[in-house]
Amino acid sequence: MAGVPLHIAFDDTDSRAGRCTTHLAFRVASGLKDMGAKLVDYPLLIRLNPNIPWKTRGNGAVCLRAEVQDPGRAVDYVRQAVEEGSAIGSGANPGVAFLQSEKVPEQLQKFSAFAMCDVSSRQMAEKVAQACSVQYKTFGNGQGLVGALGAMGCLLGGDHTFELIAYRKQENCGTPRVVDESRVVRFSKETYPFTFNNYDANHGRVLIAPHGPDPVFIGVRGENPEVVSSALSILQPEEELEGSVVFRSNQGTNMHLQAELDLRAVKAYTAGFVRCSVKSKPAAMEGGHVFFEVEQQNALMLAAVYEPTGLANVATKLEPGDRIEIGVGVRKGTTKHPKVLNIEYLSVLSLAPVYDVQNPLCKMCGARMKSEGRNKGYQCDKCKFRDPHAQKVMVEKERLLKTGLYIPTPKAHRHLTKPVQRYGIEKIAGGGFSGFASY
Ligand code: ATP
Repeated sequence: MAGVPLHIAFDDTDSRAGRCTTHLAFRVASGLKDMGAKLVDYPLLIRLNPNIPWKTRGNGAVCLRAEVQDPGRAVDYVRQAVEEGSAIGSGANPGVAFLQSEKVPEQLQKFSAFAMCDVSSRQMAEKVAQACSVQYKTFGNGQGLVGALGAMGCLLGGDHTFELIAYRKQENCGTPRVVDESRVVRFSKETYPFTFNNYDANHGRVLIAPHGPDPVFIGVRGENPEVVSSALSILQPEEELEGSVVFRSNQGTNMHLQAELDLRAVKAYTAGFVRCSVKSKPAAMEGGHVFFEVEQQNALMLAAVYEPTGLANVATKLEPGDRIEIGVGVRKGTTKHPKVLNIEYLSVLSLAPVYDVQNPLCKMCGARMKSEGRNKGYQCDKCKFRDPHAQKVMVEKERLLKTGLYIPTPKAHRHLTKPVQRYGIEKIAGGGFSGFASY
């Protein structure tokens, strides 16, 4: 092997005021290469539990897996780069972690899976780091260690995607980004279905350019490195850029929704999926949000579909007894509101029959009869036939909903949301990092 295997991960380097953890990863990767290091995987951009309340934006953390000539020098360089490149003191609480090993310990992989859908304390992360011989350094309150270990333990051996991120020069940060919409439309059309969430055709919205002061010019998402790398030549941005890098990522994979939740013991801020029945008729509230109760093995809970997802009109067509699977994030309960399952996707598994209760039809002429009063039977208005024993009848109503999967409109997608066109083209296995020895 050419060098010493070193896994490097960090998180929580940015604040709302600016900076960006991926930008730091871009610079650190380039600094490491200048020191003679060889990256053995694409830089990883790992999105963790999106329900963490103290995240800045998309709860992203990064990991670089490299062969380095001098691990001591590489560690010192990265530690200093994270300290100097972080918004410490104005909201960032960085954690940077290093592991010298050919393999990623199972305990670290398990921690990563946990951080994807649950809430970890810094202390829990420290224990895992110590057990796995991970060296680390934290700044501020050190919460960034959770994300750093979450990224390091994520091998992305199954489904994954890629994102090309292009960065602005310092002097341009804070100015509006000029992106030619027609070129984004063309790129999205020409590369469909191998790129995703770059343009929201339903709303005519460009999704690749953020709006904040951070250094990201654009981020282009897709299925493979080649297709996302082809974006810059098609988009031809006029702005001179600092550079770009392709990340391998769990974005667009629903990785946070893989664990089935038990409604009897569901915790605030967790994520997962629930197979359940609709218990109460969904009701639309002010703002167009729809709430209804669901039941799983006698446990009841309130579920919500928010208006921006575009799924509210689907939810209002649900009826008690319908079987559904929902991908959810659990909103914390307050003194005013109970815990709520915030729905991220809705799959209608089966529809319950719904009936209208109607007066019986006349046995003589077939017209609808009229009640003669309580327990007095019915009479036909048309032919006057009387039937004292006739009963109300149940007539099955046509359902205006079809079974199948319903997912939010792209502009309401979270980074981890699997877009509709990815269903069926997920990567199954074999793409992930499987140890330095195999490279
Ligand atoms: P950006 O998307 O701009 O990188 P961000 O949304 O990733 O920002 P951070 O500033 O990185 O936000 O803050 C997220 C914080 O939450 C980090 O400290 C990270 O370690 C922590 N964190 C991530 N996942 C979990 C988890 N499952 N449990 C507890 N803390 C977590």
